[in-house]
Amino acid sequence: MRQHARLELGGFFLSSLSKSVMVLWMTNGFAKWRWMLCLLAMAGMTLSVHAQRTVALPLADGFDFPVGKPDAKGYYVARGLRLRSPMHFGEDWNGLSGGDTDMGDPIYSIADGVVMFSYDCQGGWGNVVLIRHAYRDPQTGQVRFCDSQYAHLLQRTVKVGDMVNRGQQIGTLGSNRGMYAAHLHFEIRHNLTIGMQRESVPATMEHWADPRTFIAKYRKLGRERRKQATPVGTYTEYHGLRGL
Ligand SMILES: [Zn+2]
Repeated sequence: MRQHARLELGGFFLSSLSKSVMVLWMTNGFAKWRWMLCLLAMAGMTLSVHAQRTVALPLADGFDFPVGKPDAKGYYVARGLRLRSPMHFGEDWNGLSGGDTDMGDPIYSIADGVVMFSYDCQGGWGNVVLIRHAYRDPQTGQVRFCDSQYAHLLQRTVKVGDMVNRGQQIGTLGSNRGMYAAHLHFEIRHNLTIGMQRESVPATMEHWADPRTFIAKYRKLGRERRKQATPVGTYTEYHGLRGL
């Protein structure tokens, strides 16, 4: 991908820079410049450590529901967001017909975005997909970002790095190998660092969104031609599983 190429180019530049510094270090004639070059190289390395990887995302033209495209027709929320004990960081979506009748139903990306994470996490999670979205908040005019999470899937049909459109199928509804009655566990986060580490941030509305409220608020946004540089590389690895 383009942003990777840019990073490698940066790395190449930095490694050439350190080689030049070493050569100069060994040449006594440059003693006067030694420390300055050394400092320059160190500054360059610090910069490379803090360099933020980005991908160019189209700004979302709105948000839909993850089931019963686009209005969640035929589904209901059995359990909603609850940021105090007993915690529930999102919504459990079920088919109206009950039981496992919704098993294998299509799950859709709620908006345009990029797939940040798509793995079988085993344990209580099972198959999980995380998608990052960029959108303009009409109230402030500012561009904001959020992540949507889809868990306990029967199948995942996207992989890390895929660009997805609003309403594109990303997997099917599951039960995490029979651990639960089939349902979709669905979260929206304002905080881009959470990934699979929910304990890493306080359970407050600063970091989490109430999914139905969020979708209702941003249901229809203006279409924009420009793309938005969107930060990636914000997750901590989860049992060796690495996000974008
Ligand atoms: Zn749940």
